[in-house]
Amino acid sequence: MRYGFGIDIGGTTVKLALYDEDRVPREKWEIPTDTSENGVRILPDIASSVREHASRRGLESSDVIGIGVGAPGFVTREGVALRCVNLGWQNVDVKGELERLTGYRVEAGNDANVAALGEIRGRSGKRYRDAVMLTLGTGVGGGILSDGKLVIGARGIAGELGHVTVEPEETACCNCGRKGCLEQYASATGVVNVASRILRGTDEPSALCSLPSFSCSDVFDLAKEGDALAFRAVDRSMEYLGKATAQFSLVLDPEAFIIGGGVSHAGEFLRALLEKHSRNYAIPEQAGAEVVLAEVGNAAGALGAFCLLQD
Ligand code: ZN
Repeated sequence: MRYGFGIDIGGTTVKLALYDEDRVPREKWEIPTDTSENGVRILPDIASSVREHASRRGLESSDVIGIGVGAPGFVTREGVALRCVNLGWQNVDVKGELERLTGYRVEAGNDANVAALGEIRGRSGKRYRDAVMLTLGTGVGGGILSDGKLVIGARGIAGELGHVTVEPEETACCNCGRKGCLEQYASATGVVNVASRILRGTDEPSALCSLPSFSCSDVFDLAKEGDALAFRAVDRSMEYLGKATAQFSLVLDPEAFIIGGGVSHAGEFLRALLEKHSRNYAIPEQAGAEVVLAEVGNAAGALGAFCLLQD
């Protein structure tokens, strides 16, 4: 049996896991992300943690497949992180440096892309060859599997699906500096913003008015309980998302859209709303694309990083 490491680098912690070649996790642990001095110690810290775990388990070099890494930023096919704002990285050769520090083979990718790979490979049931993962969290992340392969792009920026324009009339700016991005409506903050705007423009009663402030899950909970205004807000958010999935279908023709991230905890209610809009905007031949909820959860990042070694 051979083993490999899957590593998910976040802004505050690095999640590490040791997998066997059947993708079964044998051990999981975390180390803090040291972002001081532009994150110069992040890779050396990872290297010593990996070496320590390998030697404690008595793993020889020939027992180790390598190290897969997901990093929060643009990462080229060659494993160079062009820009990872949260880590302070600019042009960091993740693959080259980690290979030099450990002697193992290293593959690296963007964290959202890698998490999509982990979700698609790790879920039970149907094996998708063509699927799009949308992670609805603070922002909207994406990852694309096309013809069985993760789509990376010429500059490592493929799959930035949260920044497709869905509202040309928007006046507020997105985090990316542009206006009308999907992320402005379908992320957790997006759902809250959509609800706040509807509230400001109407005298209609809503339980949202009685809350001093509200979160995305408050809006979904009230919508489920039949609050008409909250329902309009989540319906509008999912309509923007459905408009986007129909465009993604035209480009990629996936079998399925997989919805993950904190917002997706709204569950079947969210899935069914999105499926309705997704079908309405799609051409008839693509209206049957499945809309499914993510299964793998937080482990998808490290698992997908490990899967980079197997692809
Ligand atoms: Zn944007």
